[in-house]
Amino acid sequence: MNYVAVAILGLAALNLSLRLYSRFHRRKLTAAQRQVMTTYATYYQQLDPASQLRFERTVADFVNRKEWRGSGIAVVDGMKVMIGSCAAQLLHGFPEVRLRHFKRIVVTSGPYRATLDGKLHLGEVRPGQGVIIISWSDFVKGYADPRNAYNVGLHEFAHALWFENTIQNGEEHFLDEALLRQWNVLALAEISRINTGSGHFFRKYAGANTAEFLAVAVEYFFEQPEEFKAAFPELFGVLGGLLRQGR
Ligand SMILES: [Zn+2]
Repeated sequence: MNYVAVAILGLAALNLSLRLYSRFHRRKLTAAQRQVMTTYATYYQQLDPASQLRFERTVADFVNRKEWRGSGIAVVDGMKVMIGSCAAQLLHGFPEVRLRHFKRIVVTSGPYRATLDGKLHLGEVRPGQGVIIISWSDFVKGYADPRNAYNVGLHEFAHALWFENTIQNGEEHFLDEALLRQWNVLALAEISRINTGSGHFFRKYAGANTAEFLAVAVEYFFEQPEEFKAAFPELFGVLGGLLRQGR
């Protein structure tokens, strides 16, 4: 065996042991962090104990492994737990998915003007930089009224989920291909109805493009599931299948 082969084998062994280490030495949530969830995270509160444990692992990974930055606001622990809980809510059907491409989460104090288009934004996903941006004041509003189908946290994480599914990084293609094809057909049909004025359920912004349609549909999925199901049983069923969440 030559030196190169020995070096390659050595690196592979090191890589494997690092992976195993991080898998079995995940930092867990502290009692104070869990207290934030039992007080405010309504989705978590409704889960059975085994599902709560699974949910907690996802939140802990978001809190401890993402790089958090504040813009005009200090990102305190409770904010990380709540934003992590929002991600865990969307990802509940995927116990191993952590949106690993998105390494950094930037929290702004409120809506901000994006340099690219000069418009006010409540949040944004930048796949090129692996960044998710969320306005904290709007994130809070999203959960303050859990029935109005406006939730910027779920909206931005839905965008991130969509990108993550196609980015080759060992965490891709977790969305069912057949369901995705079905989703695209149904989504395009509804987008054209929205844009010709005959849409009767989703807010108009859902008609902007397929990415926005998905993100807005996710907001309705969690905040108005009965109404969504009654209006579009097939679309609702396909989205539930994609997210692996029956509602
Ligand atoms: Zn969007």
